[in-house]
Amino acid sequence: MIIETYNAKETFCLGEKIGQQALPGQVYTLNGDLGVGKTVFTQGVAKGLGITEPVNSPTFTIIQEYEEGRLPFYHFDVYRIGDIEEMEEIGYDDYFFGQGVCLIEWAELIKEILPSDIISITIEKDLEKGFDYRKITITGLELEM
Ligand code: ADP
Ligand code: MG
Repeated sequence: MIIETYNAKETFCLGEKIGQQALPGQVYTLNGDLGVGKTVFTQGVAKGLGITEPVNSPTFTIIQEYEEGRLPFYHFDVYRIGDIEEMEEIGYDDYFFGQGVCLIEWAELIKEILPSDIISITIEKDLEKGFDYRKITITGLELEM
């Protein structure tokens, strides 16, 4: 499925819709260049799950946990990860194979440990279509629009 957005709000709303429909145990991977909108999308997902506290990229930790929503939400940003051992130290499989919803920014950096049944989201720019245009490709999810 490919969805095109033309401003940050639309990307946020797409995330929100996905958050509303998210199911226990789902793992969402989020890929795309710096500044493309991964965190904006994630903030929408959090809102859709009913999380009201502010969600930003966890800069000094790999994972940020949110327990106040409809389901536990585990937001990973592995941009600064050195090696996979850091994921082992935080006990990543308890999250990946648990009953919450995982969302992993920069998931391509930890390919080797991702579960096989993930929902993959890639966000890309296309400057020919405008500065705020984003092409969002989603695989592994049936989304009701
Ligand atoms: P990332 O987490 O991928 O590094 P951020 O979500 O932090 O990126 O930042 C994305 C930036 O791009 C924000 O400043 C946002 O306002 C801007 N932006 C412009 N157009 C869009 C769009 N269509 N979707 C998402 N973000 C957009
Ligand atoms: Mg980010």
